[in-house]
Amino acid sequence: MTKPRKEKVLHTRVPAVLEEELKKLATNLRVPVSNVVRTILQDAVETLDAAQARAEDELRGVADRLHARRERAQADEAAAGGTAESPAPAPMAPLAGVIGYQPMLLARQEHCVLCGAAIMAGERAFLGVREVAGPRVILNEACLPFSAAKVAQPEEGPNNEQP
Ligand SMILES: [Zn+2]
Repeated sequence: MTKPRKEKVLHTRVPAVLEEELKKLATNLRVPVSNVVRTILQDAVETLDAAQARAEDELRGVADRLHARRERAQADEAAAGGTAESPAPAPMAPLAGVIGYQPMLLARQEHCVLCGAAIMAGERAFLGVREVAGPRVILNEACLPFSAAKVAQPEEGPNNEQP
């Protein structure tokens, strides 16, 4: 206590039960009730201060980490010689997640997702069927996986059994 404190008197209403508790506590400690109240208030304020300081530290930590990560990303980009505004999305195999290929006649021109070749309207193409959302897959016959291509042969009869 180096600084002399200016002390003020606060009047406040408290519930009877709380007053009883405070008086009991003061009696046990053999100090005036006002001392008990002051001590409790000071503790509460110090606890709040500590909590706030901790929250500020955490926020600062998060900000520092974000800043470091951003700088690292920029350094990586510079090292790669890239001029892209945003980092490219992680490459994903175009057929990942496809559970089957549905042959279809195209109503309009499309492009094979693997080789990029145009498939004209009225030509046969294969639609990748998924159970979960993903990029649209349209293949031309050349890019269809081998076994699927065999099964999809139009010459095959319906009773033709695979060995
Ligand atoms: Zn293709």
